[in-house]
Amino acid sequence: MPSGAGRFAPTPSGDLHLGNLRTALLAWLFARSTGRSFLLRMEDLDRVRRGAAQRQLDDLSAIGVTWDDEVAWQSGRKPLYAKTVERLRDNALVYECYCSRKEIQQAVTAPHAPQGAYPGTCRNLTDAERAERRSRADRPPALRLLTQTTTFTIDDEVHGSYTGLVDDFVVQRGDGTPAYNLAVVVDDATQGVDQVVRGDDLLPSTPRQAYLASLLGLPVPRYAHVPLAVNSRGQRLAKRDGAVTLHDQLRLGRSPAQVRGLIASSLRLAPAGSSPTVEELLARFDPRALPRDPWVVQT
Ligand code: GLU
Repeated sequence: MPSGAGRFAPTPSGDLHLGNLRTALLAWLFARSTGRSFLLRMEDLDRVRRGAAQRQLDDLSAIGVTWDDEVAWQSGRKPLYAKTVERLRDNALVYECYCSRKEIQQAVTAPHAPQGAYPGTCRNLTDAERAERRSRADRPPALRLLTQTTTFTIDDEVHGSYTGLVDDFVVQRGDGTPAYNLAVVVDDATQGVDQVVRGDDLLPSTPRQAYLASLLGLPVPRYAHVPLAVNSRGQRLAKRDGAVTLHDQLRLGRSPAQVRGLIASSLRLAPAGSSPTVEELLARFDPRALPRDPWVVQT
């Protein structure tokens, strides 16, 4: 039995584009080349579009990304997140936050606080102030983590040692929905995921997640944040950028194997125009040879 697991965790908000499919294929290659199993998790707590999850699963299968076990659905794991929030609450590691987004933006950040950090408005309220804010609030409060640090360092297979901001981030939103940063930590740990390969837009959030995992006594996974796909203007690839989904490509007359070849050639794992099998890609895969720059998709 392989030990450990890698995973791909899409949000079913629409069709996967070539950049998402590339990240999925990379996550699969990282996992399989290290003898790990590979899991799929649907991050369906919000931004769900009807039918999108099934289309994503079909597209992943079509390009040869296979997974072990049943697909995990975050919407079915809410009691687990609630239990974790309760644990944090029991240990006085969360506090209620009444701030609106606008208030946070307008708050003058403390001179020593890092840029982009929650300014701490609700952290040090007296009981009287808290009661007053609660009575004025027109919606239930979010819960923020009472952090004991401002930074945390992680080790990343692509980026090396990376130190990033840890502020009092939200662990549960005002409507009771667990925040992504909490759910991802709980999920990866309970699913036995010890290798997280995903787009490098998530690198800045990773120190927060690794810090929370350590705080909960959970193992911190190994990370590899891989370059994103961009359009010809260097902007993050989006649906409006042309024929960027598998279905778009199939409509242009390409086969799923040719789309896999297109992605593989962007990773320098196959010549342009070829149709390699996933086994061939696995045999050629070397994480150290991974391109470090974004993939410019010409559509
Ligand atoms: N669901 C996130 C996304 O689609 C990915 C989260 C993760 O890989 O940790 O961007």
